[in-house]
Amino acid sequence: MIRRDYHTYTTFCDGKCTAEKMVCAAISFGMDEIGFSGHAHQPFDFDYCMSKENSSAYRAEVRRLKEKYADRIKLYLGAECDLFTDEDMSAYEYIIGSAHYLKFGDEYIAVDAGADTLKYLIDGKFGGDAMAMCEEYFKNVSMIGKTLHPTVVGHFDLVKKYNAGGRFFDESDPRYVAAWKSAADELLKDCKLFEINTGGIARARQTEPYPSPEIIEYIKARGGRFILSSDSHRADTLCFMFDEYERYADKTRLFE
Ligand SMILES: [Zn+2]
Repeated sequence: MIRRDYHTYTTFCDGKCTAEKMVCAAISFGMDEIGFSGHAHQPFDFDYCMSKENSSAYRAEVRRLKEKYADRIKLYLGAECDLFTDEDMSAYEYIIGSAHYLKFGDEYIAVDAGADTLKYLIDGKFGGDAMAMCEEYFKNVSMIGKTLHPTVVGHFDLVKKYNAGGRFFDESDPRYVAAWKSAADELLKDCKLFEINTGGIARARQTEPYPSPEIIEYIKARGGRFILSSDSHRADTLCFMFDEYERYADKTRLFE
């Protein structure tokens, strides 16, 4: 049973629990490793990311907890970095590199901010052509490797978050498939480690993780490897459904 999770948040950004509460919960769940991946600063949408001051307080607190709980659990200091981050990432032990936004001039619109926002994005920015929106999203995903040099690629197909039941687009559409395949091919040149992220199942009524099983198979067939992540914003979803998806994981520790 995998009891290690490296995609977790605290109250330093949009998490609901303090870092110490998350660590204590992880210990009580029998986890032997936890990594924190606070949202790195970005020059917009400040509700989600850490402010510059919070980033340094976050690093100090994770380092303090690392020492305090050293004999009970191994802690790692990481960050989730959006494609449009503006933070220097050299202080972190690992980076989850992710695409959340599409950029239109000075306007950044997240694909995971809710069904209404997704509808606005498709209708307002792509004239109702949902496939064109997906193509643009996967174009951003394809740039994660070269732009962020991540340790792990985060939630590869986040664009489907509010698409349960094919509400906005058909994930078997050849244009959709071509878009994710081309993003995977490009990413694999720079980063071989991806996550199987169960956060959409916990929070957005998704029935499968990011990425979908066919994408997992495609990436694995080309040398990619997978680690499990919960994308937890609260302590009770740490290692969420890891038993279910353990069979897809190639690695159980981020550093091994
Ligand atoms: Zn994310």
